[in-house]
Amino acid sequence: MHEYSLMEEVVKTILAELQKEGGPPAGSALEVVLKVGAMAVHSEAATRQAYEVLVKGTPLENSKLDLTIEPVTLNCQACGYQGPLPEGTVDPHDPSPLAECPRCGAVTPVQGGRGVEQIELMWE
Ligand SMILES: [Zn+2]
Repeated sequence: MHEYSLMEEVVKTILAELQKEGGPPAGSALEVVLKVGAMAVHSEAATRQAYEVLVKGTPLENSKLDLTIEPVTLNCQACGYQGPLPEGTVDPHDPSPLAECPRCGAVTPVQGGRGVEQIELMWE
């Protein structure tokens, strides 16, 4: 249910934003640009599905979701390696996850990939 509660917040935020702006002109094509960390969601499909369910009956129904999942990155102190980690390397339930550096094998804290990094609403 990670995805669902996360998307619930996201949709709430966008709807509040829409109201503040007075909403887009009727008939415009809405596009939601969303960037979330790989640690916040387990699956892109589940995230999209949650979105579809949550926007039903709201002004965001039929909007396009432009979803990017930001990978978790590793920043190795030992050898200077910097890069994204393959999916499933770290346990998303771990509050301070560690991973082995793919280059030198040193155990390093991972960064990024948490929470919502960007929400943007666009329309044409
Ligand atoms: Zn390293």
